Amino acid sequence: MRKTIIAGNWKMNANKDSVKSLIGGILSGIGGINSEVVVCVPFPYLAQVESLIDGSDLRLGAQNLNINPKGAFTGEVSAEMIKDFGVKHVIVGHSERRSFYGETNTVVAEKIKAALDAGLTPLLCVGELLEDRETGKTEAVVEEQINAVIELVGIDSFNNIIIAYEPVWAIGTGMTATPEQAQEVHLFIRNLLGKSSENIAQKTPILYGGSMNAANAAVLISCPDIDGGLIGGAALKAEDFLQICRAG
Ligand code: PEP
Repeated sequence: MRKTIIAGNWKMNANKDSVKSLIGGILSGIGGINSEVVVCVPFPYLAQVESLIDGSDLRLGAQNLNINPKGAFTGEVSAEMIKDFGVKHVIVGHSERRSFYGETNTVVAEKIKAALDAGLTPLLCVGELLEDRETGKTEAVVEEQINAVIELVGIDSFNNIIIAYEPVWAIGTGMTATPEQAQEVHLFIRNLLGKSSENIAQKTPILYGGSMNAANAAVLISCPDIDGGLIGGAALKAEDFLQICRAG
């Protein structure tokens, strides 16, 4: 039985006051929630959130990392640095990193390796563009994204990887995939993992991301191969985020 995981991706949205009230709101409602709940916050607020969530069940995540352990990489942040602030999870290969910062499947795989080597649990984001879907390439795109990671780190590493299927056309657009569309790709991903290891396929959490909100979360998460959500916009309001967590 896979545990439901709800991860909030705050992206580049926060200031010290909003962090305090958002984390305060989440903590006040998190009691009794069965899902594992993670907040992936911008680097400058890791220390503040680490201290606010101390002793709670809320988990801290980051949104990116550099592939190198240390050295002359101005402006970059390593796996060990985020670990230093109590980070357990790190988003890797988000579509915004792939499209705005040129992260290829090879770079994404290297980041997954860097996260795993440091003992972090990466959330590997995969998903197709609208034009891929419209030209029937969804499965080929997702397969290539996942195979690049399997080739570098091996299938057994998926014991410590969470996958997030995020159709790019659904991210931040309000255009959620239907439960049928999402379930179809989640099952495809599980079967793809199953070609290398049925055990890993059954154990790997596969989250859905793309305009998931308080109104649509329950029906999406009730699909057999959807194990939770990666939430952008709706993770910025405590009550909306908590409602999604309760749906899990
Ligand atoms: C995301 O950024 O991962 C995401 C799913 O965003 P949103 O929920 O806003 O579509």
